[in-house]
Amino acid sequence: MRNGGVSFWWQQVGLPVPADRLDGDVTCDVAIVGAGLTGLWTAYYLHEADPSLDIRVVEAEFAGFGASGRNGGWLSSELPGSARAYADVAGEAGLAAMRDAVRGSVHEVIDVADREGIEADIRLSGVLYVARSQAQADRLGGELSAAQVAERVRVAGAVAGHYDPGCARVHPAKLVSGVARAVRGRGVRIHEGTRAVRIEPGAVVTDRGTVRAPTVLRCLEGFTAGLAGHRREWLPMNSAIIATAPLTAAQWDEIGWAGEELLGDEAHAYCYAQRTADGRIAMGGRGVPYRFGSRTDVDGRTQDWTIESLRSTLASLFPSLAGVTIDHAWCGVLGVPRDWSASVAYDSSTGLGHAGGYVGSGLTATNLAGRTLRDLVLGRDSDLTALPWTGHVVRRWEPEPLRWAGVHTLYRLYRAADRREDAGLARTSRVARIANRVAGR
Ligand SMILES: Cc1cc2nc3c(=O)[nH]c(=O)nc-3n(C[C@H](O)[C@H](O)[C@H](O)COP(=O)(O)OP(=O)(O)OC[C@H]3O[C@@H](n4cnc5c(N)ncnc54)[C@H](O)[C@@H]3O)c2cc1C
Repeated sequence: MRNGGVSFWWQQVGLPVPADRLDGDVTCDVAIVGAGLTGLWTAYYLHEADPSLDIRVVEAEFAGFGASGRNGGWLSSELPGSARAYADVAGEAGLAAMRDAVRGSVHEVIDVADREGIEADIRLSGVLYVARSQAQADRLGGELSAAQVAERVRVAGAVAGHYDPGCARVHPAKLVSGVARAVRGRGVRIHEGTRAVRIEPGAVVTDRGTVRAPTVLRCLEGFTAGLAGHRREWLPMNSAIIATAPLTAAQWDEIGWAGEELLGDEAHAYCYAQRTADGRIAMGGRGVPYRFGSRTDVDGRTQDWTIESLRSTLASLFPSLAGVTIDHAWCGVLGVPRDWSASVAYDSSTGLGHAGGYVGSGLTATNLAGRTLRDLVLGRDSDLTALPWTGHVVRRWEPEPLRWAGVHTLYRLYRAADRREDAGLARTSRVARIANRVAGR
């Protein structure tokens, strides 16, 4: 089994060699820091709106090195944040507009992929959420009975389910490399192998020169804490995934899953999975939630116990796969704001902007963020700029060691709540409610 190597997705398509490194100081119209999907979609839509703009993207490694090339491939319609937080600032109408915008973004990504010839194993197969205890069923409030769940996927112990058709399965590395190709094809320069060390109004200072631009956009998500002055902004939350070897036809017959739905459960320490286009199961979950001092992994390598824990979750969902070969394991970081709600912002007086903090629901939200940043930078008032996450202000995380102790305690509480619910508690455990309050969710 391979552990790390950025991700299984990248190993499948081949790891890129960083290209077009910055070579000294340059001046341009828009400087974007980070070539994940936030930065790339922003570049894509800005250039589409005004092809005369000189846009440069600065990327420490290669386009898609971060979460955008490592995720679970859920192009989902989940809100990138807490519904309550968005309703607080924009009311129920604002929240509804946000939900519609995210749903629309799933189709926007599929349409652009089509237009740009991006082959990313995309299938609008929907997502199936499965409840495996009475408490999970209570939270889920799903419309599917145990038998109806089993008609789609035979998950052991499923008591209820909910199916949302508006979500798609994607191959993350194929998607992000395709968007990067489309952006480059339009003439945007992506300076890979070029690390930003500081951002200030009018400039991005990198290890290979300074990019001067009146507009500077920070698109670093889980890596934001690595930038001077941003350590306590978004917590780099860790998530890990395992990919099995391709299953045999008999193994697929045993579990069903012919519709290739995305699959998730309702545990507090939840798991998420997809049936890959080449017949594997890629399944992710939390593992070690956070590294002291907001550190990030090296090259996507995850801890052995995380792999074992994911392997045992897989076997618990599908007992017939208990001995299945795991081909690859990896991890990555996503950005978590203190109120667990994403934001997009641009200050025209300084020319500084940012987007991120999607808390694990960024694959679709990055596209919405890119179009919103486009409108903000171009000074357009639009339906997008009116969404409740625009200019959403969040307080910073606590300093260490409080941050580390808090997050680890939180996940201990969530695991304890899951154990109580698995043991037969009929409603959401009070321990989880307390954890949610402590977390500020
Ligand atoms: C394991 C995992 C599974 C996930 N699964 C899902 C899922 O199924 N569905 C979903 O919706 N979301 C999922 N997410 C979240 C989603 O992938 C992210 O929210 C999204 O990809 C964020 O995109 P981004 O461009 O903002 O950040 P990233 O993709 O992380 O991009 C940031 C980029 O900045 C670069 N960088 C870092 N530091 C610097 C620097 N100093 N200078 C220059 N460049 C720098 C990095 O190399 C990276 O390329 C998952 C995340 C992880 C980690």
